[in-house]
Amino acid sequence: MGIVKTDNVVYEYFRRDEEGNVEGITTAVDHVNLEIEQGQFIAILGHNGSGKSTLAKHINAILTPTEGTVWVDGMDTSREDKVWDIRQTSGMVFQNPDNQIIGQVVEEDVGFGPENMGIPTRQIWERVEESLKAVGMYAYRKYSPNKLSGGQKQRVSIAGVLAMHPKCIVLDEPTAMLDPNGRKEVIRAVRGLNQVEGVTVILITHYMEEIIHADKVFVMDSGRIAMEGTPRQIFSQVEELQKLRLDVPQVTLLAHELQKRGVDLPNGILTIEELADRLAPIAKRGV
Ligand code: ADP
Ligand code: MG
Repeated sequence: MGIVKTDNVVYEYFRRDEEGNVEGITTAVDHVNLEIEQGQFIAILGHNGSGKSTLAKHINAILTPTEGTVWVDGMDTSREDKVWDIRQTSGMVFQNPDNQIIGQVVEEDVGFGPENMGIPTRQIWERVEESLKAVGMYAYRKYSPNKLSGGQKQRVSIAGVLAMHPKCIVLDEPTAMLDPNGRKEVIRAVRGLNQVEGVTVILITHYMEEIIHADKVFVMDSGRIAMEGTPRQIFSQVEELQKLRLDVPQVTLLAHELQKRGVDLPNGILTIEELADRLAPIAKRGV
């Protein structure tokens, strides 16, 4: 079994009025089946309200399914006696770094997770050091978090999760509140965790350019998995992505338009370099 597996997962929120009476039900996750292998880099895309955060919270046992089953490293998340094991196996990073950092000093903040796990002090310091190095924040270990940029804070949050030695890390729009530089720093750190440390990464984002290195992409719509495939397979389906209200990268759109006008290009161009490499020989031939 993969590190994460879901079987027909449904999650319903009950909407209540001021007196607490149930007004209606929102099906936020609607029969989702997916399997993620240890070490994969997974991206989950989808417009606002498509159910991404609700699904993510199932992978950390913050929520448990209304129907169906979620397993994290073989553990059924609805088993209450497994909640702590599940949260150590699968850590979570949220959108707003300010809500996640509690320490007065960076290294202290990163140490909270392993400390709560009852790890001996000497090992805590080893873990803090290795985690801060992994996200490129070791030089800032003595800083006060409120002196850091958004991207730096978010990398400290990631180090805090990493210090618990999870097999899997779920990041729910970790770059949504960051400037373009901060976004790049965070994505670089996340790719490093995956490639160097072998941590399974589940990255939720609505920035398409952040998913080009993923092994696999799931696109959600109305609580369902509407598309799944490699980034190239997903980006090849420009019209479908637009129907799902996703912003297709400019370079992919341009390649798609050129293709429609008869220029010989492959489907799913992902980067400017790739398009330039394909167009240069055509342009030189003067077609
Ligand atoms: P996404 O992360 O893709 O924006 P969410 O999982 O947050 O989507 O939301 C999915 C659906 O569930 C939306 O219709 C949203 O309004 C609803 N929803 C999310 N959180 C709650 C909540 N705490 N109570 C009621 N409905 C909610
Ligand atoms: Mg969300």
